[in-house]
Amino acid sequence: MPGERAWRKMLKKEQRKRRRQKYARENEKQQEEDPEYQQWLKQQMELEEFQRLADERVQQDEEIEWLRREALAQRQFRVDAAQLRQQEMEAERLRVRQSEELAALQHEQHRRQEERDRLATEAAAEFDAMMQRMQEYMDNAEQHTPPSELRRVVETHPEERLCEFFTRTNCCRFGQACTFNHRRPMLSKIILIRHFFIHPLLQVADTRTEYAKSDEHLELTDHDLRVDYDEFFKDVVGELEKFGKIVNFRAVRNTLPHLRGNVFVEYAQERFALRAFVNLQSRYYASRRLNVEFSNLNAWRGAICGT
Ligand SMILES: [Zn+2]
Repeated sequence: MPGERAWRKMLKKEQRKRRRQKYARENEKQQEEDPEYQQWLKQQMELEEFQRLADERVQQDEEIEWLRREALAQRQFRVDAAQLRQQEMEAERLRVRQSEELAALQHEQHRRQEERDRLATEAAAEFDAMMQRMQEYMDNAEQHTPPSELRRVVETHPEERLCEFFTRTNCCRFGQACTFNHRRPMLSKIILIRHFFIHPLLQVADTRTEYAKSDEHLELTDHDLRVDYDEFFKDVVGELEKFGKIVNFRAVRNTLPHLRGNVFVEYAQERFALRAFVNLQSRYYASRRLNVEFSNLNAWRGAICGT
């Protein structure tokens, strides 16, 4: 039980509280009834609402922006994927086309190789047959006509005019490189053996006599040349007659390098000339390889006139 003093103190405290509450209520009531306060309160609420709407809008804008970016990213992804597919398809098409082209190329190469092989086989067979016919012609005196392959004339440039030098001497200093036409029979009674008779007197060009005066070869006379030639003649004619009867034998006495020591041998029959050609071609005489070819009559006369 509180004492008298304490009870009074509590009572007073209670009284103060009540007064304060009453005052507050009155004050509040007074404020509530105050139009300015009401106005302020209303503005305050509108402001809050405005702020809320503004916040909401910002949030919405952010969401819209995010969605827009997302949609853009999706679209970009689809475009990229489509482009990638397109590129892959093109690459695949290219691969297919290349492999098809490669296959076609290989097929073509194979076909060409087969064609080459076929032609080579045919050519070899043709050559063998020709050699056979040539052999028969050489062996059989009853066969008067040479094989057809040999009854032709070979021309180096049929569309060009005839080479004067070659036509006259059967020897052109331009050789294979000559742009004019060289016409040569595949077979004739006359064979030409190039640079067959080699002699020191024929080694020196006439125009260089003065320069070459110290050369001991120049002391050789025409008589020496004659003697050496006779020896050569005896030596080779003995060999050449083994192939058949010789009707003419001439060496070109000319110091020009392409004519020097060229020997023409005319046989009584083409058959004999062919035997000589087949047997002598690529054989060696005086350690030099023989180069034998057929010559025509014009060349023979022209060359001899020049000696
Ligand atoms: Zn020529």
